[in-house]
Amino acid sequence: MGKFIIEEAKRCLNCKKPMCKEGCPVNTPINEIIEMFLNGSIMECGEKLFENNPLSVVCSLVCPHENQCEGHCILGKKSSPVQISLIENYISDYYLNFNTNKTIKKINKKVAIIGSGPAGITIAIMLATKGYDITIFEALDNIGGVLWYGIPEFRLPKSVLLKLKDKLITMGIKIRPNTLIGSAITIDDVFRDGYKAIFIGTGVWKPRNLGIKGETFGHVHYAIDYLKNPSVYNLGKRVCIVGAGNVAMDVARTALRNGSTDVNIMFREGPESIEAEAIEVEYAKIDGVKFEYFKSPIEIIDEGIKCVKTEIVTDSYGNKKIEYCEFTEEVFEADSVILAIGQGPRSNIVSNTIGINVNGIGLVEVDEVGRTTRNGVFASGDVVTGAKTVVEAVRVSKMVAQAIDEYICSLEE
Ligand code: FAD
Repeated sequence: MGKFIIEEAKRCLNCKKPMCKEGCPVNTPINEIIEMFLNGSIMECGEKLFENNPLSVVCSLVCPHENQCEGHCILGKKSSPVQISLIENYISDYYLNFNTNKTIKKINKKVAIIGSGPAGITIAIMLATKGYDITIFEALDNIGGVLWYGIPEFRLPKSVLLKLKDKLITMGIKIRPNTLIGSAITIDDVFRDGYKAIFIGTGVWKPRNLGIKGETFGHVHYAIDYLKNPSVYNLGKRVCIVGAGNVAMDVARTALRNGSTDVNIMFREGPESIEAEAIEVEYAKIDGVKFEYFKSPIEIIDEGIKCVKTEIVTDSYGNKKIEYCEFTEEVFEADSVILAIGQGPRSNIVSNTIGINVNGIGLVEVDEVGRTTRNGVFASGDVVTGAKTVVEAVRVSKMVAQAIDEYICSLEE
């Protein structure tokens, strides 16, 4: 692996106008990093990557690179782009093996971070670097949010997240696991205890339902719940997953690795409309996942899913609509059914707090720098935007960290 990475680094043209950097949502200075890497300054590279993106090591594994840095590499026009993700992964993973923390002057001001996903981790690290006294409140027992409880081990090893957790701890960040805010502790309690600002990065963890008969049966599960701990489920051999986004691909590939042998994705449109990244679909096919296109469930029964065939029709305004085809009802047999049709935010915090506005689907309303409608409370990540990506959560959260710092400084003026 090492030689391949060096060879890839040597292919970089160090462009004057690096398109790879422009293609990266957090503008990683890739060409500079690669040059430093080849000159033997791996720790400086690691530091630069970490300071620009505290989740660099995660992004190197899970970003859709083909649409971002690698998709913009000029070499990709004629041959294959530099495999930037592999180089970034090598550097960032190496860097996290060492305690590289600089001595930071503590400023004795507390900030509460609710949720330890990419958004919460980014804010925690950015503010800890400025000397703030940070406490992360996390509802579950491990940190990482979707990184730990959603993205499967074969795509993002837990060892990487444990290194990140060590980093947080060595930076002096306190973590309260198994602490759901909005239950025993409310936002008002946190302010009562002297925290200067509160950040909400609680993501989207409420599965969307189909609202059809049979959804409560014992062999029906929601994707986001299943991925939390797949080994506790007994899915049987034949599984049908409803939905065709990235989450559905993760579920399908996980089910195959956990003993199911006949794993199918049911989608009401055709292959060209699949929402998942092309590479995730390709991997799913390689792993053995089968696709049932133009089918929509109408009821879940003990034997599987009652479904009908669908077709896409275009109305006179050019709008596309999915229609059920008459007399096409059939039973798709399955031992288990997993619904992967999206997630929305839960309301634990906002239903117990006055002054934090949410929109029609429960996402927290913020201004352009992440200020919610309640003074001193900020938010970013999926709980604001709906389901997005890790790098998007990092990009916005960097800005929000800055806004929190400015807000706290303004309290003294
Ligand atoms: P989350 O990661 O959801 O973290 C929120 C955290 O808040 C969780 O730990 C939760 O337990 C905690 N929490 C919630 N409520 C409370 C409360 N009241 N009190 C305390 N804690 C609370 N993106 C990519 O870029 N690449 C991928 O390959 C990719 N794959 C994905 C696969 C799956 C299965 C899923 C579901 C998403 C995937 N994503 C991927 C999207 C990406 O993971 C999310 O956009 C990102 O994690 C959002 O970060 P976040 O910090 O906003 O929220």
